[in-house]
Amino acid sequence: MKKIAILGSTGSIGTQTLEIVRENPDLEVVALAAGNNVKLLEEQIREFKPRLVSLQSEAACEELKTRIADLQVEVVPGMDGLIQIAEMEESEVLVTAIVGMIGIRPTIAAIKKKKDIALANKETLVTAGHIIMPLAEQMGVSILPVDSEHSAIFQSMQGENKDRISKLLITASGGPFRGKTKDELVNMQVEDALKHPNWSMGSKITIDSATLVNKGLEVMEAKWLFDVDLDRIQVVVHPQSIIHSMVEYVDGGIIAQLGTPDMKLPIQYALFYPDRRPMAGKRVDFYELGSITFEKPDMETFTGLKLAMRAATEGGSIPTVFNAANEKAVSLFLNRKIRFLEIPEIIEMCMDAHRKVENPNVEQILAAENETYELIQAKYGI
Ligand code: NDP
Repeated sequence: MKKIAILGSTGSIGTQTLEIVRENPDLEVVALAAGNNVKLLEEQIREFKPRLVSLQSEAACEELKTRIADLQVEVVPGMDGLIQIAEMEESEVLVTAIVGMIGIRPTIAAIKKKKDIALANKETLVTAGHIIMPLAEQMGVSILPVDSEHSAIFQSMQGENKDRISKLLITASGGPFRGKTKDELVNMQVEDALKHPNWSMGSKITIDSATLVNKGLEVMEAKWLFDVDLDRIQVVVHPQSIIHSMVEYVDGGIIAQLGTPDMKLPIQYALFYPDRRPMAGKRVDFYELGSITFEKPDMETFTGLKLAMRAATEGGSIPTVFNAANEKAVSLFLNRKIRFLEIPEIIEMCMDAHRKVENPNVEQILAAENETYELIQAKYGI
């Protein structure tokens, strides 16, 4: 029996992780955390019977306690709850399926207690990769990628010598606005940006796919996860999302992982690695598919990727500012307070204004995040 705890159990990755638990009786859920979705968390508690759960606010926790008064479940709010879940004695693997930098502290806490991490929460590595990766190595903990591109790279590295990698090729669908000009992007609405051509995901990452910011975050995530320099990571637009990413080796050989776009495969691979388990679902039919295509990303129109590469190159606290500015800008866009093209403008303004801190510790990362939020608030009054 493998015991897992899930941060972000009510979200897109969280609910798909629970589908895998449902199909694999040798997985046991010992703890769950969500933001404010009391109703769904209650249903999950009744079905999966965790011992410890958390919601973001005290009020949500009180409401949950009333609803589950007939059950023996401990409910702890906020960051205390996330940390308790991360450190929990019984759990072996922490699935970090929460959105944003809020994942940093619980991820570090879990690693310190020698829990393996099934990592979806890329923002944690983007901002604190320089803390998390050496700590994981020191503690002998595995960071198992859940992101489909990183899982593909990880799968393409099995049995290979890491020193023989010449480059990582991260594929990108190009998002719903691929091929559009800046003029065409001016009036794009939330509904347009949420229509991802291939993947069904949470709203924040879907907007990040439309701006190509997500691909930039993935480049930074890959740099930390696989310890490969930025100049050896290439983004390739591949609109059909059949090749999930590739690794080129020094002899020119390229190994890729392919499949239909379904996040359950990388989640399941992370949970059972190095084993592979059977999984139902659509298979790639090459006769039906016919052809797949590749393009260079348009970084002049989708400046989110260009800014991400700048943030990755400058390093230090700049990726934190990039990420925080993007988180805030996406939330403003989703709330219809700014236009689509203002997302990269806000990110750039914050990066230009920031004085970089080299090798920031967690406090300095969170301070850079706050400073970024305050700057946006001051400039935009929102
Ligand atoms: P969702 O928005 O669908 O879900 C986010 C989850 O985090 C929800 O359970 C939400 O709870 C919870 N949450 C939000 N804020 C808090 C908080 N303050 N405290 C506790 N829980 C909180 O996101 P996704 O599942 O799409 O993404 C999760 C992570 O995985 C992101 O980092 C994303 O980049 C990454 N990822 C996602 C992929 C996907 O296919 N979705 C693919 C690859 C990576 P509530 O429901 O109550 O708000």
